[in-house]
Amino acid sequence: MKLNPHTILTVGIIAGLVFGAAFGETLYRVYEADVPGGTLEALHFVGTTLFVGLLKMILVPLVASSVIVGVASIGNPSDLGRIGAGAVAYYFVTMVIAVVLGVVLVTAIQPGEGFDAAFRDQQVSEFNASTGTVQQRVQEAQTQGLWTAFQNLTRQVLPANPIGDAANGRLLPVISFSLILGVVLTTIGARGRPIIEFFDALFTAIMQLVGWILWLAPLGVLCLVAWTVARIGTASLLGPLGKYMITVIIALAMHALIVLPLILWLVGRTNPYRFMHQMREALMTAFGTASSSATLPVTLECAEELGGVSKRSAGFVLPLGATINMDGTALYEAVAVVFLFQCFGIDLGGTELAIIVITATLAAVGAAGIPSAGLVTMVIVVEAVNDSLGRVGDDRLPLAAVGIILGVDRILDMCRTCVNVWGDSVGAKIISRIAPDPA
Ligand code: ASP
Repeated sequence: MKLNPHTILTVGIIAGLVFGAAFGETLYRVYEADVPGGTLEALHFVGTTLFVGLLKMILVPLVASSVIVGVASIGNPSDLGRIGAGAVAYYFVTMVIAVVLGVVLVTAIQPGEGFDAAFRDQQVSEFNASTGTVQQRVQEAQTQGLWTAFQNLTRQVLPANPIGDAANGRLLPVISFSLILGVVLTTIGARGRPIIEFFDALFTAIMQLVGWILWLAPLGVLCLVAWTVARIGTASLLGPLGKYMITVIIALAMHALIVLPLILWLVGRTNPYRFMHQMREALMTAFGTASSSATLPVTLECAEELGGVSKRSAGFVLPLGATINMDGTALYEAVAVVFLFQCFGIDLGGTELAIIVITATLAAVGAAGIPSAGLVTMVIVVEAVNDSLGRVGDDRLPLAAVGIILGVDRILDMCRTCVNVWGDSVGAKIISRIAPDPA
């Protein structure tokens, strides 16, 4: 019997996830919740350098070539406008649905009701006392607010120095510039052909490379999952934060398994669960890496090779989706913010919940496709709610409240990233209908 390479890889990645969790849990128990820093460091190093690092290595040329070729193959700017508008409409509608679902569930389940105040205060003061990267990023985000976030986004969409951005691995400016270049190339006729062919060849070569890098996925996810579980242990699901984690997971599952499939079935006329199966390697990579950007090469590969997504659609709907369409993050931010206010005994009214729906959607758009980005942009939502409640000084929900959920964030990050990538894939499949490949 000849085994299909995709089947072997799928089994390998599932084994990586399972053994990673088992290994992490064993370490957690053997070292009684205090796994040596060196061991954690080694797991993280192997996972990020060997697997995520290689995916990141190819990301910028892949995104540039995929967008240029995708846009050039659409050709006509008015068709491109129609497809782009369709994609953006899909992104916003699904993100708003996700946030509303999150708000409804967290309000119904009330995971923060009667929360252990001693545990809460201890986490908050630990957060205040430490100087980790998340802490710094949260402090920076506090001084920014919605207007600055909007300005940053606009600057990325209209980049002054796209090559500099590319060198720093910022994807949105690269997408933006490639989009413009792709359109222009089609308007200059035969003279543009060699450049389009160059990027087409570059795209094919890089996709070949993705196929090779994917063989490292089982080891990569094993190390990253082990690293995550070894730090907090699976019993955290039963601890004081258990109810909160379960709320997030149920809400994400409902969005991924009911809402998005329904949309795909109704609008995309596709069997959603078969499509989910075809996207499995991307979804598992998203879960293992907690980064939709790093997963993008795998998403492109699965969508085009197995999922029957048209090259025209995949080429630019997926890269754009990986940077701005984050259903999982939007939903998570809403649940987390309402939960934190509940922990401090603050009940939110209809106005605040409406503010959360709007700001969580925008904050998710602004979040980069990297681990814990959502945790940081969540600060924007917290501040907007504080302002709406008219709370000043010590009365405001302290930003250090983020410390309460920081410890368990990685596991939830893995889950929401998986939903983010699934949302992008569903969007690309739907857009394939209005942008099929030429026969
Ligand atoms: N890790 C998420 C992603 O890459 C972003 C986040 O919610 O933190 O899609």
